[in-house]
Amino acid sequence: MISEKLQKAINDQVKAEMWSANLYLAMSFYFKRNSYDGFANWMKKQSDEEMDHAMQLADYVMKRGGVITVDAIDAVDNEWKSPLDVFERVYAHECHVSQLIDALVDVASSERDKASQDFLWGFVREQVEEEATAQGIVDKIKNAGEAQAAIFMLDAQLGARK
Ligand code: MG
Repeated sequence: MISEKLQKAINDQVKAEMWSANLYLAMSFYFKRNSYDGFANWMKKQSDEEMDHAMQLADYVMKRGGVITVDAIDAVDNEWKSPLDVFERVYAHECHVSQLIDALVDVASSERDKASQDFLWGFVREQVEEEATAQGIVDKIKNAGEAQAAIFMLDAQLGARK
């Protein structure tokens, strides 16, 4: 049985993951209407992944006998200045999510819930990859500078994400 306090904390994270999914979906639509089809594909996959995180967290709480509710999700931005602007936002957001997940582990720890700590460590590790991936794309876009051909190549590369 999961504690009331941890159940609420994970439910808040479910909501945060759904917000992330919406943010990345909005970014996917932004790229689509600006003809960056590869970036749009990458961002849609990223959105799907966040929704999957929400489901994994929700399933876990329910498996532990807890209750998960679906609440209102705050609106997300829909406009950005450039691909660099978008990916810098992704990197900043993933760093924020890492902090949220760390705080969640702290709650599980204060509740002395070992199974939840073990489960949540997987998300802690995943955030290392999320930050590194976003940072890597930011770096590539910066390397491209004003070279549009390099941006189009990167767009094609990210379009290959399954
Ligand atoms: Mg996530």
